[in-house]
Amino acid sequence: MGDLLADHTTLRLGGPADRLHTHTDPLTWPDLVARLPCRPWVLGTGSNVLAPDAGHRGVVVIMATRGITTTHGPHGTVEVTARAGEPLANLVAHTVAHGLSGIEYLTGIPGTAGAAPVQNAGAYGQEIADTLTTLTTHDHHTGRTVRLTREQCRFGYRTSRFKTEPRRFTILDVTLRLTPRAHAAPITYRHLAQSLDVPLGATPPLAEAAAGVAADRRARGLLLPTHGPDARQVGSVFLNPPVTAHQATALRAAGGPVHRTPDGTQRASAGWLIQQLGHQPDSPLGPGIWCSTLRALTIVARENATATAFADTLVGLVTDVETTFGIRLHPEPTTPH
Ligand SMILES: Cc1cc2nc3c(=O)[nH]c(=O)nc-3n(C[C@H](O)[C@H](O)[C@H](O)COP(=O)(O)OP(=O)(O)OC[C@H]3O[C@@H](n4cnc5c(N)ncnc54)[C@H](O)[C@@H]3O)c2cc1C
Repeated sequence: MGDLLADHTTLRLGGPADRLHTHTDPLTWPDLVARLPCRPWVLGTGSNVLAPDAGHRGVVVIMATRGITTTHGPHGTVEVTARAGEPLANLVAHTVAHGLSGIEYLTGIPGTAGAAPVQNAGAYGQEIADTLTTLTTHDHHTGRTVRLTREQCRFGYRTSRFKTEPRRFTILDVTLRLTPRAHAAPITYRHLAQSLDVPLGATPPLAEAAAGVAADRRARGLLLPTHGPDARQVGSVFLNPPVTAHQATALRAAGGPVHRTPDGTQRASAGWLIQQLGHQPDSPLGPGIWCSTLRALTIVARENATATAFADTLVGLVTDVETTFGIRLHPEPTTPH
């Protein structure tokens, strides 16, 4: 691994960082932060970032601290703390293996435990904010390391204050409160229920639910392949956009899916909107930039791709969707600010 950001992002795009430090020993955090000449751009596995071709004029810290610990919580719950660099997949697998319910439907989301709160990572009706009680973070604004409660994280649909106040906070660990139980939370997604051959609301055994999610994600192109034409990607490139009641009615009449998020907002399907523009899975969008082989909303980098071409493609899609539907798409991957 070198100082090229392309070596630290799943799109495998991005030029050199002025300085790149891989942080593995949590005890050295105070020393590291005291020596930093500027606020760092912190990365986990780079599965939700678009790093510029020109690279980054500053310090990049790759968060690679590992470890999961467990303590008793109130009312028979169990509190699980993961260091920020622990792969989310390991954390999910650990909880499922120990009979703890609360994040089983996050199976298959790439990345680190420390990045999950940034966009309030979620899938299949569960999001990290549902079970997160506190996290430890370094506030580069005040220079202090503090514990924040869930309320202080200001979570929303695929957002939090870590996203709206970029580079202010480095998350060092996260604590989740989970329920000891052999069965998963009720299934709220129809296609997951169908693929497991159970009714909506069923509560399959934890391991079965996690395996069902993995299979469903694989079938729908939502797992990160290790190789092949879809290996370089950041998953969905746009959030499902909020729509007005009027727009929701018009979209439904045209056969477009609209769903309601926990905050009550009606959201259109970004993938459906892109497909209505004529972009189908496995079709080219720009030089080296394609829709993935299984879904239009996952845009992949192939030979000769650049971060500039990827960014231009996203801008083009935002413009085209806005012109056609009057709906503004917001990109999901972040760039350094
Ligand atoms: C195939 C695929 C499927 C995906 N499916 C989903 C899904 O179902 N649901 C979902 O929500 N997301 C999904 N994602 C997006 C992504 O995996 C998540 O957002 C994940 O949480 C990012 O983790 P990461 O470690 O790769 O973060 P990175 O991409 O490295 O960073 C993402 C952002 O978080 C910041 N950050 C990272 N670590 C820290 C830290 N310790 N402290 C402070 N800031 C930090 C970065 O600066 C950046 O702004 C998917 C991605 C792919 C490639």
